[in-house]
Order: sequence, then C-alpha cells, then structure tokens
Amino acid sequence: PKLSTNTYVDDNERDVARDSLFLDSRENATLLMLVRNWELPGALSSMRSLEDRFNKRYRYDWTFLNDVPFDDEFIEATSAMASGKTAYGLIPSTDWDRPSTINETEFEAGLQLMREKGVLYGGSKSYRNMCRFNSGFFYKQQLLDQYQYYFRVEPDVQYYCDFPYDPFKVMREKHKKYGFVIAMYEYEDTVTTLWDAVEEFMADYPEMVDTKTNSYDFITDDGMIGKDMPVIQSNSMYNLCHFWSNFEIGDLSFFRSEPYQKYFELLESKGGFYYERWGDAPVHSIAVALLLQQDEVIHFDELGYYHVPFGTCPTAYNLRLQQRCVCNPNLDQNIDIKPHSCLTRWWKHGSGKYFMKHA
Ligand code: GDP
Ligand code: MN
Repeated sequence: PKLSTNTYVDDNERDVARDSLFLDSRENATLLMLVRNWELPGALSSMRSLEDRFNKRYRYDWTFLNDVPFDDEFIEATSAMASGKTAYGLIPSTDWDRPSTINETEFEAGLQLMREKGVLYGGSKSYRNMCRFNSGFFYKQQLLDQYQYYFRVEPDVQYYCDFPYDPFKVMREKHKKYGFVIAMYEYEDTVTTLWDAVEEFMADYPEMVDTKTNSYDFITDDGMIGKDMPVIQSNSMYNLCHFWSNFEIGDLSFFRSEPYQKYFELLESKGGFYYERWGDAPVHSIAVALLLQQDEVIHFDELGYYHVPFGTCPTAYNLRLQQRCVCNPNLDQNIDIKPHSCLTRWWKHGSGKYFMKHA
C-alpha cells in the first residue's frame, strides 16, 4: 500500500486508544509468573515489556509463584514495576516436589540416559518438578482461585508490538479457552511414551474426546510428517506439535474441569514427568487438542513475542507500524514460516475449520 504520513502518524483514534485507561472494562484475570528469586532482572525486563505493550492501560494484577519464599528485593522491585496489584505465593511441597511413588533407581537411570543423549534439561531434577507443576498444579494454587483467566509470563521474554486488544476480553467474547502465539515440534526423546498414556486416556474416557470437533488432526500424523518436517521422526501417532507454553492465555475452568483432571491423573500415574521429561507444553497442547473444540482455541496472530531462541512477528506491514513493532518478520524473529513451526499445520487442521472438513 502507498504510505501516507497522515494515516500512520496522526491517527488520533489510535493515539487515544494507546493512552486510554480501560480499568472499568477489565476481565477477571491475572498475569502469572512462576519464577526464581535470582531471575529478578529477567522478570523485571518481561514485566516492563508487557506493561508497556499492554498492561499499563488495564492494570491487571500480577501473581508470582515460587517453590521457595520470594525475598524482599524481589517483592519490592516487581511491585514497583507492576501497574496493577501484586501477589506472591509459595507453592506447597506436595505440588512441587517429586512424589514418593517415583522409583528412585528408575528415576536416576532415566536422568543419566538423557544426560548422555544430550537432551535439553535431560539431567535436571528441578526442571521436571517445574514441568509437572505447570501441567497439573498451577491452576490449583490458592492465589488463582479468584480468577477465570491467566496469562503466563516468563522472565526474559519480549513483546514486540503494542497489543491491539485486550486478549482476555477476546477470550471471553469469542468463547475461547486457550490462546497461543507459537506452535512447534517437541524433542521426541522427552516424550517417548506420552502418547501411549494419551491413548489409554482416550480408551478409558471416549466420551470426553470428540474427534469431530476437536483438533486431533493437528497433533497426529499418518506418516506424512516427513513431508512437513524432514528432521523430525516420531515413533507414535503424535506428531510432536505443541503450543509453546511460555506464552499462553487460558481459561482456568478448562484446567479445573473433570476431563483435564482425569487426563492429568492418568499421566501422573505413569510417572513420565520424572522417568522421561514430559514438558508442560506437549501435556497442555494434547489436552487442548483433544478436549476442546477447535473454535475454543485461538492463535493470537497480531501479537509479537520472543522467548529464546524463537519469536513471532506480525507479517502485515501496516499492522507493524500501527502497533509500533520492533521486529522483522523476515529475519530469525519469526518462526512461523520455518519448517520447525507447526503453524501451517494449525491453519490446515485446526483454527475452527472442522465444519468444512467434516461437512
Ligand atoms: P525453558 O523456558 O523451557 O527454557 O525453562 P525456564 O528455565 O524458562 O523455566 C520455565 C519457567 O519456570 C520460567 O518462568 C522459570 O522462571 C520457571 N522455573 C523453572 N525452574 C524453576 C524452579 O526451580 N523454581 C521456580 N520457582 N521457578 C522455576
Ligand atoms: Mn523460559
């Protein structure tokens, strides 16, 4: 399109929207960060970015969770950075630490094996606690009881563009239960037997899985995987696609629902969070794909985001100007068009098009 300076620089309406406060139209929601005390600089950096790009106009509460008590410095600095209220929760040991049902010998053997294979975080015990917590316990924390929606934030992430809307409001108005910005392939070695457990779940609770309306096709493959992604080889039906959970906006009632509870209980009973290294991203994603309808899931196409080592940047030039983006969609700041992104699969097999496919 031909650029006219007026269109983009003197756009009054946009400037008003950028500076306005929307305190009266807020949703029942919180920004949520699981974080360690020593990650304070990264936490502040993420907060500053999200406050600038979105929250300063809404002043949503921030909720911080930790497996050890937050120190005074962390509390003071993050409270000063937040435009909204802040709350700090200590995670109970039962929600964080490795359960006694996990066999010590088998656990250590698994760690050793993954260390040798060079799997990312393969030898880490605390990473496994974190993944299990984010899979089955974050939504049970008392501080979250009062909220319907959460927006997960991690230290050291960046939001590349102004938010053109309140994503919580979009969630409620469009009846969405889960929102993401990046989808990609998981390392197979971390989830070797996850799909076996999922198949058991589907056999036990067939009434909870509606393949006519869900996104089953997004996460499964019939041997076509080599075509989309030559490097990835999956040994099961699961094609390793998952929503990158370091950015996620969710409806807590989904995670608190009976189907998700049954799903998590079954996974937990297998011990794969410890014997393997099941990540909360594939665990959430498989649940979202199986238990929700396609049109209850939203891809926030307009939001720019970066978490090392991947980012996403809106492709529309006008949008990038209007939203003051600081990213270039043609550089490595955009995973969406690369072969290790699952987004093209989502466009094909997700995104609420089931009614056309099954018509
Ligand atoms: P990655 O994104 O997979 O590389 O893993 P991160 O190290 O970023 O961890 C994911 C999230 O969990 C981040 O918000 C971390 O701050 C948080 N986290 C990871 N391990 C721990 C831990 O042992 N304790 C606490 N309190 N938070 C953790
Ligand atoms: Mn991270």
